[in-house]
Amino acid sequence: MSKKFIIVGGVAGGATTAARLRRLNEDAEIILIERGADISFANCGLPYYIGGVIENRENLLAMTPSRFKNIFNIDVRTLSEVTKVDAKNKKVFIKNSDSTYEENFDALVLSPGAKPLRPPIPGIDSKNIFTLRNVPDADEIKKIAGKFSDGKAVVIGGGFVGIETAENLRERGLEVTLVEAVPHILAPFDDDIVAILEKEISSHGINLILNDGVKNFSELDDKNLKITLSSGKEISANFVILSIGVRPDTEFLKDSGIELGERGHILVDEYMQTSAKNIFAVGDSVMTFDSLTGNKTSLALAGLANRQGRLVADNISGKNKKYRGVIGSSILKVFDLTAAATGKNEKILQREGKIFGEDYKFAITYPTSHATYYPGAESFVLKTIFSAKDGKILGAQAVGKNSVDKTIDLVASVLHFGGTIQDLQELELTYAPPFSSAKAPINMAGYVAENIFENLSEPILPKDLKNKIESGAMIIDLRSPKLFEKSHIEGAINIPAEKLRANLDKLDKNREIILTCKTGLNGYFMEQMLRGKGFKVKTLAGGNAYKNFVI
Ligand code: FAD
Repeated sequence: MSKKFIIVGGVAGGATTAARLRRLNEDAEIILIERGADISFANCGLPYYIGGVIENRENLLAMTPSRFKNIFNIDVRTLSEVTKVDAKNKKVFIKNSDSTYEENFDALVLSPGAKPLRPPIPGIDSKNIFTLRNVPDADEIKKIAGKFSDGKAVVIGGGFVGIETAENLRERGLEVTLVEAVPHILAPFDDDIVAILEKEISSHGINLILNDGVKNFSELDDKNLKITLSSGKEISANFVILSIGVRPDTEFLKDSGIELGERGHILVDEYMQTSAKNIFAVGDSVMTFDSLTGNKTSLALAGLANRQGRLVADNISGKNKKYRGVIGSSILKVFDLTAAATGKNEKILQREGKIFGEDYKFAITYPTSHATYYPGAESFVLKTIFSAKDGKILGAQAVGKNSVDKTIDLVASVLHFGGTIQDLQELELTYAPPFSSAKAPINMAGYVAENIFENLSEPILPKDLKNKIESGAMIIDLRSPKLFEKSHIEGAINIPAEKLRANLDKLDKNREIILTCKTGLNGYFMEQMLRGKGFKVKTLAGGNAYKNFVI
């Protein structure tokens, strides 16, 4: 007899699972149940649809129910909600506009995703406060953004979706305020890196309010809202986008017999099977594990939902594949910049340091996207974090115009395979002047990291400069007088790198010396020379370029 598989949720995780199940089981009965009207739509494209970058709504719909039926012979039931699961008796209860009925199954896959948080803040039920999860939500936001095309929008929450939405509303010409409750936006990035992005957002005319949460909303009339912040500050808007995080959409599983975590995540084992046999779960609603620490974690990212969906379909089809966990890789566009991160940042390591039981170090490099002599080369900042014990890569973050995605994807690959800073150096990569450098950014990061790992170089960060100056350090700027005159760190003296050897008598062996140059490279060369001559010396990580970028 042919098997019967039911999948709950028809977007990233659910649609992938269904299609793979069909490819491996031509004779099975496969039913895909989706609460909304669409399946397999591009949630990730929604902010760009609101902004008009994606012009055609149809382009958001990667697959329609009828195409899914025709290509994969999958019984797609949209506008149908699974209201209850009976794990013991292998049954689901489905509600549509006409009736409620049951279906039994041989295997069930849950991919209900996560829904936007809407905490009980006074006034939150105003009709002009929106959240963004699916195409109808985007339609509504696009409509109101059109209605108030020269009006004011307030976006609450500086995560990925909040920032992408704020940017797109701003690009449409609205006056936009972005409110973030904690001191900095975008948790995957450290403060020094995120400072660059905050500067970019402000420079494009978004009013960025940090470290201030919402106390209440009040509707002044049907076109105007007042938002009062914890600090007492009041801001006004024609409409608000609430983007303060998500929680698993799993209420329907409450009495199912399937084990859920504290915050409602579906708990799964390494085969992505829930506590109930033959019931699997994937995507934003599951709690999986961190492949570096082994800790339980949940991450709402499309790539993970897709990977997990394929693995579950394989396992239902008898393949017995183990999930390897998540490292956390993400990317976004922030106006003219790209920002990407993978693995652990300093904030996380300081919090979870004890779990690793070891210290970390990091290298800041300021490479260019391709050979500087070939037109169009752009610099970007790369922060590579590694174990101080064995040089194992722990994470990386990058911000800039070009090559950011490629570089962080490479670090993510090395991280995935448990690689070290030495592996970064040894990666054999493609090179020609229009594309990269003979020493690719990632190779350079490996070299610099090794120097730091072996204590050949001791970089300091721009944020530590003030303390260093106050404690009497001498700042030497190694750039040309022309560049020095344009801008320099207050109190710095200018000795170009090529003249430093001839001017050693101007330096004091009892004073700490901080070297700065264009991007950190000359600083490193001269640091070695001065160390060899007995001076106490450190280099400003990334030189003036990085400092100016960050501060
Ligand atoms: P979803 O894609 O949310 O699908 C779950 C579906 O299940 C929903 O359609 C829901 O209606 C349905 N459902 C829920 N409960 C039931 C029920 N009881 N019965 C029937 N149907 C049900 N990720 C990235 O990696 N990169 C990005 O750039 C990115 N951008 C994003 C932008 C936006 C605006 C949003 C909202 C998300 C973005 N994401 C991004 C996250 C990504 O979309 C999710 O990680 C991914 O869609 C998760 O897939 P999923 O199958 O778990 O859940």
